[in-house]
Amino acid sequence: MNFIKICTRNFTSNQNIPRVCIVGAGPAGFYAAMHLTKYLKTVNVDIIEKLPVPFGLIRYGVAPDHPEVKNVINQFTKVAQQPNVNFYGNISLGKDVKISDLRQHYHAVLLTYGAEEDRSLGIENEDAANIVAARRFVGWYNGLPSDKDLKIDLSGTTAAILGQGNVALDVARILLTPIDELKKTDITEHALNTLAESKIKELYLVGRRGPLQVAFTIKELREQLKLSNCQTVWRKTDFEGLGNIVNDLPRPRKRLTELMLKSVSEFEDTSINDNNKLFKPIFFRTPNKFLVNNDRKIMGIELTCNELQGTKLEEQKCVPTSNSEILNCSLAFRSIGYKCVKADNDIIFNSKGLVANNKGVVDNNSDTLAKVYVAGWLGTGPVGVILHTMGNAFQVAKVMCDDLKNISSFSSKSGFEEIENTYLKSNNPIINWEGWEKIDKYEVEQGKLRNKPREKVCSIEKMINIAVS
Ligand code: FAD
Ligand code: NAP
Repeated sequence: MNFIKICTRNFTSNQNIPRVCIVGAGPAGFYAAMHLTKYLKTVNVDIIEKLPVPFGLIRYGVAPDHPEVKNVINQFTKVAQQPNVNFYGNISLGKDVKISDLRQHYHAVLLTYGAEEDRSLGIENEDAANIVAARRFVGWYNGLPSDKDLKIDLSGTTAAILGQGNVALDVARILLTPIDELKKTDITEHALNTLAESKIKELYLVGRRGPLQVAFTIKELREQLKLSNCQTVWRKTDFEGLGNIVNDLPRPRKRLTELMLKSVSEFEDTSINDNNKLFKPIFFRTPNKFLVNNDRKIMGIELTCNELQGTKLEEQKCVPTSNSEILNCSLAFRSIGYKCVKADNDIIFNSKGLVANNKGVVDNNSDTLAKVYVAGWLGTGPVGVILHTMGNAFQVAKVMCDDLKNISSFSSKSGFEEIENTYLKSNNPIINWEGWEKIDKYEVEQGKLRNKPREKVCSIEKMINIAVS
């Protein structure tokens, strides 16, 4: 088959410099490249990415109404524009190239391909219509090609989000924000059109544990509480006794709990305005099964009522009681976390579902093959904000630098040149940084026509066409 290469940028033909391959162009990959190029005198870094476009969850996870978070893209762009860094998009580890190939042609391989799937609840009727993974909803409103055709019916008035993390709050905010505010963001046009027709009036946020164990953070809750045309409705009984212990909590938890208690007491003093949408956090409830109609569409959720056991507050476990209740709703989001996938058979996962590693080192068992490292969500698990991912990527990159500095002379390895010639035999074009810059320019131009920062291209085929034009 004929392989098409689009204007790749070759840094050097010197074969005795360390060649590093990073798999995954998300924050972990870029921060690691930043560290490696800063602390190694000579190095050639190739970043291989499954999609034709870079930035991982910065582009496809971070909510459209959080543009300030996406500013890290400017730093990553500077990293990619260095002459000794190459971006090779539209190449998938496991499908187009294998880890064993990369190990043969590089001196070090760093895996940073993230956590691509969502965890499921494993309960009855979870596959019924209008039960949506938060991960896919996020991908849908952010323009991830694989999620652009997500089927979601927003014609009912009541919806529930299962889970109380920051992803759950992102989903809630996108559903409850007035459409005129969303229009100013880079949310995709298809999502905007569907959300404009939404009839959702009340949105439950269901937690299996209590207010002291919520996984969302204060900034995100504050934002939710301030949404215009939206009121937060708490169940006061969920907060019994908390006023007495709030001062003894560690600081971040204390401030978050104080904010919730303040909002609970404000809610007591206000009446509900029928024109507002309602945000309804509820606690101590585990989804037991989804209730479905004859068309296998969700009608409600049976929730088991829980008690908490254990002394250390954040580690308290929920224990089911014999009580249950029904939450009637016509749409549910499962937002209980992401999960890593095994992209290549040579990758060994540990019992926590992460790539088994010791301080980022995965495999060190060969004199001739490259040492393998892991960083970011693939190594730490799908928790933590960009700052945590940066810290981890820097740590692992430092280990890599120390290892590479200890090698007195580098064997001759040809890096991507050999990968391209020997293994990439499909008709799939490689998209390099210049290709991404064309897509970027096109998206920003399309955005201008709609008074938005950008209108994302949601089809891989179209991305490729723009990049090769
Ligand atoms: P990712 O960002 O997932 O990057 C992995 C990259 O690898 C992707 O580009 C992917 O396409 C690529 N890849 C996957 N499989 C392959 C393969 N087989 N071959 C080649 N490449 C592959 N943090 C904040 O600080 N602020 C926020 O507002 C914020 N919002 C978030 C919203 C959501 C919905 C989520 C899920 C997370 C959010 N985070 C936020 C957390 C932040 O996104 C993560 O900390 C960070 O993205 C993890 O980086 P990573 O590089 O490990 O993974
Ligand atoms: P998360 O923070 O781990 O939250 C998962 C939620 O799901 C928790 O409330 C958890 O409750 C619940 N849960 C897990 N398993 C469950 C089950 N079987 N049944 C019922 N509930 C269950 O995950 P996330 O929301 O996907 O976020 C991932 C990471 O991205 C987090 O670190 C987050 O801070 C970050 N992020 C940050 C931002 C931001 O900064 N704005 C935005 C989005 C995401 P338990 O506590 O009881 O397990």
